[in-house]
Amino acid sequence: MQGQRIDVVSVKPYPVFLGARLEELGDYLTTRIGAGEHLLVITHPNVGDYYLDTLQKGLGSFIVNTLIVPQGEDEKSLDRLSALTSEAIACGADRKTVVLALGGGVIGDLAGFFASVFMRGMRYVQIPTTLLAMVDSSIGGKVAVNHAAGKNLLGDFYPPLAVWTDFSTLETLPWEEMLNGLAETIKHAVIADEGLLSFIEKHREEIMARKPELYKELTSRSSAVKVRLVSEDETEQSKRMFLNYGHSFGHALEAEVAYQGITHGQGVSIGMVAAAHLAQERGLMSSGEVERLIKLLKGFGLPVTGRGKNPRVLTDLMGADKKNYKGQKVLVLPKGIGQGIVIRDANDEEILRAWDKVI
Ligand code: NAD
Ligand code: ZN
Repeated sequence: MQGQRIDVVSVKPYPVFLGARLEELGDYLTTRIGAGEHLLVITHPNVGDYYLDTLQKGLGSFIVNTLIVPQGEDEKSLDRLSALTSEAIACGADRKTVVLALGGGVIGDLAGFFASVFMRGMRYVQIPTTLLAMVDSSIGGKVAVNHAAGKNLLGDFYPPLAVWTDFSTLETLPWEEMLNGLAETIKHAVIADEGLLSFIEKHREEIMARKPELYKELTSRSSAVKVRLVSEDETEQSKRMFLNYGHSFGHALEAEVAYQGITHGQGVSIGMVAAAHLAQERGLMSSGEVERLIKLLKGFGLPVTGRGKNPRVLTDLMGADKKNYKGQKVLVLPKGIGQGIVIRDANDEEILRAWDKVI
């Protein structure tokens, strides 16, 4: 019997507005979806206190409800998804409702996943308010909640209508949260943009002094890397994997302490150094390039070693990485500064040697 042809539906492109203003989102939505529609803002209490009034200034011609989600990674859960469902129904939401995800990666992932499943899908806009969300989690259409069996275990690729990035929201972000985003920014520079690394080196002190004009350029250049890698590979088959640099090692460090006592940025920082040592052993990086990375991370106060850990335990934990393939650890290594490479033949001995250099 002749099989029927099914065309794979390609992931739709969407605009990423860098340097937008919260109060102007309403104007954009009027042109995009029409005035008078029902909007559901999903945010955290603190982010709401800072920015809901400004956002709502521009939403006068819409019907707006706000759902407040407590802070914390634990809220990326099926329980919260269920609670949001009840609250959305109580507000009269239907599949024409547009969700506005106002917050960091937790809100973006949770509200995005909620939008993807509520009544089989509604539209949503990412409004990232952390550096990490601006340069990383709001771009690429990945949405998810966690499960007892693993982080981000239930999720989807579900692109937003748009990403609306207002840099001024960074003014209230605590420094430790900023560091999580900076680690990802340095990651972007190492795997894809040497010029960005030089920019960060040159302006390190101004970045630490939190000069707003610096953040505009830093965030634009860093998110441009993610936009580029993701648009070349929306469903993570090849180049998008570069974004995992530092994460296989970093996630092991985070998992070993059950995600308590080490931030994601700290794990990624040490992880990038470990992967750089492995790259050096394979002749992909010079000692000078590894030193350059270490100096920059240290300059921001990001850790480059994690003393007192057991390399064997960490190597075993890397075996549970979602990116592994057929029992083989898949790693991303830098190739010099400004390029990445995916390796599928890493053996545990060289991984152990890389751990030894950082712990
Ligand atoms: P987060 O969302 O928990 O935000 C960190 C803290 O900052 C929260 O307490 C939040 O209330 C607060 N905050 C947010 N914006 C603020 C502001 N402007 N001023 C003051 N406080 C503010 O953390 P995050 O680092 O943004 O995101 C981490 C999450 O992102 C994780 O769940 C991770 O799995 C996910 N993630 C997803 C992707 C993806 O591609 N979807 C990529 C990377 C990370
Ligand atoms: Zn990360």
